[in-house]
Amino acid sequence: MTNYEQVALDISIVVPLFNEDESLMKLESWIRSVMEEHNFSYEIIMIDDGSTDHSWEVVTQLNEVNPAVKGIRFRRNYGKSAALNTAFASCNGRVVITMDADLQDSPDEIPELYRMIIEEKYDIVSGWKKKRFDSFIKNNTSKVYNQVARWVTGVKLNDMNCGLKAYKKEVVKSIEVYGEMHRYIPAIARWAGFRKIGEKVVQHRAREFGVSKFGIERFLNGFLDLMSITFVGKFGKKPMHFLGTLGAINFSIGFIILIYLSILKLFFDVAKISDRPLFFVGILTIIVGTQLFIGGFLAELISRSSPHRNQYLERERLGLNLDLQNQ
Ligand code: UDP
Ligand code: MG
Repeated sequence: MTNYEQVALDISIVVPLFNEDESLMKLESWIRSVMEEHNFSYEIIMIDDGSTDHSWEVVTQLNEVNPAVKGIRFRRNYGKSAALNTAFASCNGRVVITMDADLQDSPDEIPELYRMIIEEKYDIVSGWKKKRFDSFIKNNTSKVYNQVARWVTGVKLNDMNCGLKAYKKEVVKSIEVYGEMHRYIPAIARWAGFRKIGEKVVQHRAREFGVSKFGIERFLNGFLDLMSITFVGKFGKKPMHFLGTLGAINFSIGFIILIYLSILKLFFDVAKISDRPLFFVGILTIIVGTQLFIGGFLAELISRSSPHRNQYLERERLGLNLDLQNQ
């Protein structure tokens, strides 16, 4: 089959958008001029994440004048992660670039990002908005947040959640972005075994049109997601190792306390051990320890019945046929 879809392109540009009708024309013509200048074969996948303005009409018009513009339209707003995940499944370029639709990211960065993936063989190159044009609160919370994320995930990036990133195709075909996890794609990829993760300082621009789609709740949600992604990354396939260890520690502490109190009562005739705070600490830690164990067993049962429990990402094979389905 030699139709257009089947030919591997140099670059897929993935643009999630939610109510960005004012920016799209300008974004498309800017991307197109950069692509033509460098002679890249490309596609722009615009995912309309349930916009209520005229975004989809604009995408349709753009597709009529430039067939490299392709579109997916969600029935409702599912979020940026859902948009990225869906576009990743359909993109066809050797290098996949994600960028925001609001013109805060500059398409001029694309050729260098492409070069870093192809020539320097990075799995991911993440943009770093060193000089940022967002609000004071956002700029500073983001610094703290990146520090914590670096520490927890071990991925040494200054700007984990930059919308402008470049990926080797294999990366986006191998990972799953769900919930609000788009903030941590480099961490997800690292846990999937893609370890060559680089960073490039990129231009950042103030939003020209419209408003930011993420409010103050991003900070708490971002933190909760960081905790769950760390847990899933480290213990997703063996939850009992985490919950069971905590359970065993709690249970043992409680057990020792209660044995100690029983000895006092039985052999030293100490009256009223139930008046002591230690008595309650003992009971509490035993109960908490048991609960953690039960949690661990349930988590094991759940992960064992997951259809993904025996899915591993293969890098290469020798002397055996590589399953080409995911390539
Ligand atoms: N976006 C989306 N779905 C959402 C929220 C945002 O597709 O539910 C898109 C949005 O249109 C933009 C990108 O994600 O292209 C980044 O969003 P935004 O600019 O609001 O985030 P900020 O720059 O303030 O972090
Ligand atoms: Mg923005």
